[in-house]
Amino acid sequence: MYPSRRRLSLSRAIDKQPEEQLGGQEKRCRFLGAMRITEILAFFMVLIPVLLVIVAMFGYDQGNGFVEASRIIRMEPEPNVTSSDDSTLQRDQEQKDSVDLSLLGGLLVSGFKKESCLSRYQSYLYRKASPYKPSLHLLSKLRAYEELHKRCGPGTRPYTNAERLLKPKQTVDSESEGCKYVVWMSFSGLGNRIISIASVFLYAMLTDRVLLVEGGEQFADLFCEPFLDTTWLLPKDFTLTSQFSGFGQNSAHCHGDMLKRKLINESSASSLSHLYLHLAHDYNEHDKMFFCAEDQNLLKNVPWLIIRTNNFFAPSLFLIPSFEEELGMMFPEKGTVFHHLGRYLFHPSNQVWGLITRYYQAYLAKADERIGLQIRVFDEKSGVSPQVTKQIISCVQNEDLLPILSKGEEQHKQPSEEDSKLKSVLITSLTTGYFEILKTMYWENPTVTREVVGIHQPSHEGHQQTEKLMHNRKAWAEMYLLSLTDKLVISAWSTFGYVAQGLGGLRAWILYKQENQTNPNPPCGRAMSPDPCFHAPPYYDCKAKQGTDTGNVVPHVRHCEDISWGLKLVDNS
Ligand code: GDP
Repeated sequence: MYPSRRRLSLSRAIDKQPEEQLGGQEKRCRFLGAMRITEILAFFMVLIPVLLVIVAMFGYDQGNGFVEASRIIRMEPEPNVTSSDDSTLQRDQEQKDSVDLSLLGGLLVSGFKKESCLSRYQSYLYRKASPYKPSLHLLSKLRAYEELHKRCGPGTRPYTNAERLLKPKQTVDSESEGCKYVVWMSFSGLGNRIISIASVFLYAMLTDRVLLVEGGEQFADLFCEPFLDTTWLLPKDFTLTSQFSGFGQNSAHCHGDMLKRKLINESSASSLSHLYLHLAHDYNEHDKMFFCAEDQNLLKNVPWLIIRTNNFFAPSLFLIPSFEEELGMMFPEKGTVFHHLGRYLFHPSNQVWGLITRYYQAYLAKADERIGLQIRVFDEKSGVSPQVTKQIISCVQNEDLLPILSKGEEQHKQPSEEDSKLKSVLITSLTTGYFEILKTMYWENPTVTREVVGIHQPSHEGHQQTEKLMHNRKAWAEMYLLSLTDKLVISAWSTFGYVAQGLGGLRAWILYKQENQTNPNPPCGRAMSPDPCFHAPPYYDCKAKQGTDTGNVVPHVRHCEDISWGLKLVDNS
C-alpha cells in the first residue's frame, strides 16, 4: 500500500502545470525559514529513506512492467501474421508429438538415419500406444547402457584390448578399461532367439556388460541395429568364433562343468578370460547355479561370458537378491520386461517392414477390429485335427472374439450398413488346414451379430526352416503383424506367440495344450501379463542349498498359464 501511494503522488507531481511548480518553489523557501534546525534535520531523516524506497520501488516496477509488456507484444502479433504463426506453432507441436510417439515415451533415442530403419520411426502409426509406460529408471539405465556400448563396442580400443585377452598367452590386466562382454550364441527358432536375446540384454544391463549377438548376415537382414553409432553384431573375426561349435556342457570353459569338477572358485575365476554358460532348455543342476548370487559374484570379473540359451530367463533374475532392487526400480510393472526391452531392441529391417506394412494395408487396415490367431501345432505331421479345430472355435466364440454363425430364418436378413462391421482375422500357421476351415465357415454363413469376418493367412511354410532367409523374414513379419492386432489368441508353449503378445503389450488368450488328444476345458484362458514364460527355470534355493518351488517365493514370479512348471513375471493386480 505505502509504495503505491507514494507512486501516485509522484506521478501527480509530474503532471502539475509549470506555473504551479514555480509558485511552489517560493512557498517552500518560506516554509523552510520558519522551521527550527532540529525539525529540519528530523524532516530530512524521514524524507531521505522514504525517497530511497520510492526510487527503488519505481525502478523495480519499471523493470517488471517492461517484462510484462514484452510478453504481451510477443503474444499478440499483428492480425495478418496470427494465422500463419499459429499454424507454424501447431505444425511444430504436431511434429514434436509424432517424435514423442515414435520414440515410444522416451524408450528410443533419435539420431538414427530414418531411411536405414523405417520401422523405428513408423511402427507407432500401426500400433496403438502402449498402456505401459517405461519407468524413468529404465530409461536412464538404457541411456547409460548406450554410452557403455558406444565406448566398448566393436571397433573401439577397449574392445581390441579385451579381445586380446582371448588370445593364447595373454593375461588379464587393466587394459580392457573396465569393458566386459556377454555374447549371445545363435541358437534355436526365431521366437526363442528373440526372447532369449532380450533376457541376455537385461542381464548385460544388470552387470554392466556389453551385449554382442552372433547372428551373421541373417541377423542383419532381419533386424535393425538397436544402438546408435555402434553395432551389436559380434564381428565375424571374433577370436572364439571357430570354437563356438565345440562349446557344450562338457567343454573346458563351461561354468557348470567347472563347478561340478570343483575347478572354479572366486579367486581362480578372476584370472579367466572367458567362460561358457550353458543356459539352454537341457541344462543341468550345475549350469543352473548361474541363478545363485554366489555364482554371480564369481562371474563378475570374467571379461567374456559366452551364453547359449533359448529361454526367457528374466523371471529367475528377479529371484537373485543382488539384482532384486535394481529390477524393481527398472520395472515397477513387473510383467512388462519383454514388452519394453523387446520394443527397444527389435526393429524389423526395411525388407521385413515392407512385408509387414504391405500385408497390413492390404488385409488389416480397413477392419473395425483385428483379431490375431496363432496356431502352432508342434506335431507337424498330424494334419488338421478335429479336436484342435473344435478347441479353436470354442475359444474364439466363447470369449466373444468372433461371432457365432447364424442359422435358420435369420440367415437371409441383409445386414444394415451399421451392423456390418468388419472383423479381420490374421491367422499364422505352418499349414493351411485351420485357415481353410475358418474361412469357409465365415464365408458360407452369416453371423448372429451381422458382423462380416475376413480370414487371412500370409504364409504356410510347411515346417521350420531356420536356415532360409525368406522363411525367417516371413516368420518375423508374422510375429510382428500378430502384435499389431487388437485381440490376440496364441498357442500354448510357443515362443512365436509370446513375441507377438509381448511386443503388442497384449494379454492374449492362450489355447491350452491338448493332453492325450482330449480337449482342455476351458479351451483357452487369458494371460496374466504380456511377458513370455520361462520354460525351464531352476528349482533351487541357493541360500538353503536345497530344492524349492521358485514359483512360490515372491508374488510377481508365478507359474505360467500354459506350462505348470514354467515361471513368468506378473503384477499383483
Ligand atoms: P516356437 O517353436 O513356437 O517356440 O517358435 P520359434 O519361432 O522359436 O520356432 C518356430 C519356427 O517355425 C519359427 O521361427 C518359424 O521359422 C517357423 N514357424 C512356426 N510357426 C510359424 C508360422 O505361423 N508362420 C511362419 N512363417 N513360420 C512359422
